[in-house]
Amino acid sequence: MSEKYSFDTLAVRAGQERSQFNEHSEALYLTSSFVFENAAQAAARFSGEEPGNVYARFTNPTVTTLQERLAALEGAEGCIATASGMAAILAMIMALLKGGDHIVASRSIFGATQQLFGNILPKFGIDTDFIDGGDPAAFRAALKPNSRLIFVETPSNPLTEVFDIAALAQVAHAAGMLLAVDNCFCTPALQRPLEFGADLVIHSATKYLDGQGRVLGGAVCGSKILTEEIFKFLRTAGPSLSPFNAWVILKGLETLKIRMQAQSTNALALARWLENQPQVTRVFYPGLESHPQHALALRQQASGGAIVTFEVAGGRAAAWRVVDNCRLLSITANLGDTKTTITHPASTTHGRISAEARAASGITEGLLRIAVGLEAVTDIETDLARGLA
Ligand SMILES: *Cc1c(COP(=O)(O)O)cnc(C)c1O
Repeated sequence: MSEKYSFDTLAVRAGQERSQFNEHSEALYLTSSFVFENAAQAAARFSGEEPGNVYARFTNPTVTTLQERLAALEGAEGCIATASGMAAILAMIMALLKGGDHIVASRSIFGATQQLFGNILPKFGIDTDFIDGGDPAAFRAALKPNSRLIFVETPSNPLTEVFDIAALAQVAHAAGMLLAVDNCFCTPALQRPLEFGADLVIHSATKYLDGQGRVLGGAVCGSKILTEEIFKFLRTAGPSLSPFNAWVILKGLETLKIRMQAQSTNALALARWLENQPQVTRVFYPGLESHPQHALALRQQASGGAIVTFEVAGGRAAAWRVVDNCRLLSITANLGDTKTTITHPASTTHGRISAEARAASGITEGLLRIAVGLEAVTDIETDLARGLA
């Protein structure tokens, strides 16, 4: 869109190109390939001389609309949509790093990202150092001459640690490196990492961008130069997004901001209520004044987001009692849905790491993570109160 529209407008309109039928809602192009006028055009499309669609592993108009809309929302020059959030991270690494390169990553990142960096990339000569805590000086101290990328997730899962994007961008850029931020928890409705100096933004569109738990998807946003490199990998290696999923996620983006605002408001109310429950020993939520990085969170984020983590007295037995007494909340590790979910990290998402490592990273046995949805917060409280009592 050529005019400078606000976020709310871009979320419902950016990237739409109408077909000959002038449809109002975005068309779903369920086609894997595209027909050419003649042999010369086929040749020109293949060589890239003439822009246009060839094959859906490269581009598809529905996917292109999603990419343009998400780029507009993140304030990015470019966006590459992928089959999942993990595919987005893999495509970024494969396109921008090579054997012999080094990554400095926060320890507090999604479990599969940890596995990818820690167990799979080393097979290809890419090593990662994981940093505990968010101190930019600790990231700087871990840099090596071959370091190429700093990777963080903010806020983090499940303890909602907040990382200073501007400070980490300075560390990365002073060393000629890239900073990538996984923006899954906030989405561009609440936080736009590129505005704070990040080079790349990662999304699991599976979570809030769709927002209704229907499809897998992912994306990387960044400069034209970086996303064009990622596109070269995608069109060859094929972790491409299905047009159907792109269409579903496009519909999700139309309500992204109002969902994020409403779910954040619910989350703050729930966090305050939890702080007043005698059986709750700690509440982790960036929107609370008691959060150690509340001021930083307010600088980077429009609100605290929809993930609330808390610790109950009495360890695993007490935490499981809360889970098992839920009648409304869904017991599932997923997040980013309009339906509230509850997870016991120590026995599920973080169950495969050693008890010592778990304790070191603060994942205690009494910890519970709630991904707050759109239900009435009083109903969520009633569901939790039963098990807390
Ligand atoms: C879910 C998730 C991912 C991975 O996304 P998939 O779509 O499941 O591949 C990456 N980062 C974060 C923070 C996530 O929550």
